[in-house]
Amino acid sequence: MHEMSIAAAVVDQVSRAAAEHGARGVTAVRLDVGELAGVVPAALDFCWELACEGTALAGSVLSATTVTARARCVPCAVEWAPGLPPDLGCPGCGGGRVELLTGRELQIRGVDWADGPPGPGPGPTGEA
Ligand SMILES: [Zn+2]
Repeated sequence: MHEMSIAAAVVDQVSRAAAEHGARGVTAVRLDVGELAGVVPAALDFCWELACEGTALAGSVLSATTVTARARCVPCAVEWAPGLPPDLGCPGCGGGRVELLTGRELQIRGVDWADGPPGPGPGPTGEA
C-alpha cells in the first residue's frame, strides 16, 4: 500500500532524527501533504499506528496538513489552483505549458519530541 510505505519512510526519518538528538520519543509529527500527492489521509492515519509500533514514535500523533495545489502557466505567468482532479489548462491563455508550484509535496514540517530540548526543534535530517 502506497500510504504504508510513506508512513514507514516518515517514521524512519523521524526515528533517526530522534536518535541523533537524544530524544526519548516523539509525541507528534506534522506533515505537509500536497493534494496531488496521491495520499489518502484516512489511509495514512491508519498506517501510521502500525508504522510507529516498536519505534521511538510509538503512540505519536500524525498531523497531516493538506497543501492546496498551485499551477502556473509558463508563457503568461497566470497562477491558479488546479483542484482535484487537476485542471491544467491555463485559464488565461488556454495553453498547456504549465508548471506545478505546489501540490505534490510530502514533507515533514515539524516534530514534537517527548523529551527533548525546547524551542523550534531540529529539522528531520538533523543537519545543523
Ligand atoms: Zn497562460
